[in-house]
Amino acid sequence: MRRKTQLIHGGIAGDPNTGAVSVPIYQVSTYKQDGVGGHKGFEYSRTGNPTRHALEELIKDLEGGHAGFAFGSGMAAITAVMMLFNSGDHVLLTDDVYGGTYRVMSKVLNRFGIDSTFVDTSNLDNIEKEIKPNTKAIYLETPTNPLLKVTDIAGAAQIAKKHGLLTIVDNTFSTPYWQNPLELGSDIVLHSATKYLGGHSDVVAGLVVVNSEKLAEDLHFVQNSTGGVLGPQDSWLLMRGIKTLGIRMEEHEASTAKIVQFLGDHPAVSKVYYPGLESHPNHEIAKKQGRGFGGMVSFDVGSEANADKLLGNVKYFTLAESLGAVESLISVPARMTHASIPAERRAELGITDGLVRISIGLEDAEDLIEDLQQALQK
Ligand SMILES: *Cc1c(COP(=O)(O)O)cnc(C)c1O
Repeated sequence: MRRKTQLIHGGIAGDPNTGAVSVPIYQVSTYKQDGVGGHKGFEYSRTGNPTRHALEELIKDLEGGHAGFAFGSGMAAITAVMMLFNSGDHVLLTDDVYGGTYRVMSKVLNRFGIDSTFVDTSNLDNIEKEIKPNTKAIYLETPTNPLLKVTDIAGAAQIAKKHGLLTIVDNTFSTPYWQNPLELGSDIVLHSATKYLGGHSDVVAGLVVVNSEKLAEDLHFVQNSTGGVLGPQDSWLLMRGIKTLGIRMEEHEASTAKIVQFLGDHPAVSKVYYPGLESHPNHEIAKKQGRGFGGMVSFDVGSEANADKLLGNVKYFTLAESLGAVESLISVPARMTHASIPAERRAELGITDGLVRISIGLEDAEDLIEDLQQALQK
């Protein structure tokens, strides 16, 4: 089955009982048992729900893994994965991870004795150097947010294997349509499904896929014990979004290529960050490990004042957090998605006050270029 077909026919398609072509929304909390323990596979919807199960089977197929899990948000998914570890364990993470990931590691999970170090994983040498005796996992986000740095997943996974560590990849920006970290040697792949997988700015969700029975058992134990599950309505909405992931990602890609070229030629833009650019320092590895470069672009307009002028004048780019939707979105990471990262840390990472991040939506690319053109002129 090719990718676009798998989006429609992967997982559990439709309902064998009625012939409904869409998986029904099982809005139910508990299930009748014919005698104690005599159930049909479902007992209580925290443990398992048929609509959520269909979504979990679908993401499992799309990522080519052993089992899938759906959570109430990307952060709930990330937190559940971190609960596989114990007090005293250490996790090595990509330095410019999503702000919420940095926050949960450094302000919440640290209180439970899970220690973390953030390094620039786009240079594999940095990983090897920071492995400690109690390190249990390498957590990669690639491409990163907002600087679009790319880590060699296969290379990092090789280092992890050598040291007996798990490799975890946040695949939110690429989606399984463009990149499959499990095939590149990682053990766990996760998503903020709020972004491209949902795709329509109407659902908050997180998904995880693991590559072994042991990890599946352990993560299901955490999911059932801590209870951050996705509800049946949102599971259904997410499956609906995923059906069009392929055509959406192809269109995002084509429009982004045009907009990146426009930005690169514009005198008011000092720097463009996009892994599809040959000048991007990680372009070769991005090309090798993925099938597309995605619809996220960051660029520098030099100052907070210039960024504010741009934000104030665009018509089709909505000023909002989030990404990966049909609507084009614009944000200033320093004051929005990355505001929870201390200023001195932001400066170290290169997240300047003039850095603008855009998520290219599905509007006509010519309209988006004209919009940026008029806003940059002001
Ligand atoms: C949004 C995001 C998250 C967090 O997901 P939520 O669904 O907002 O909880 C994690 N990682 C990345 C890369 C994200 O963009």
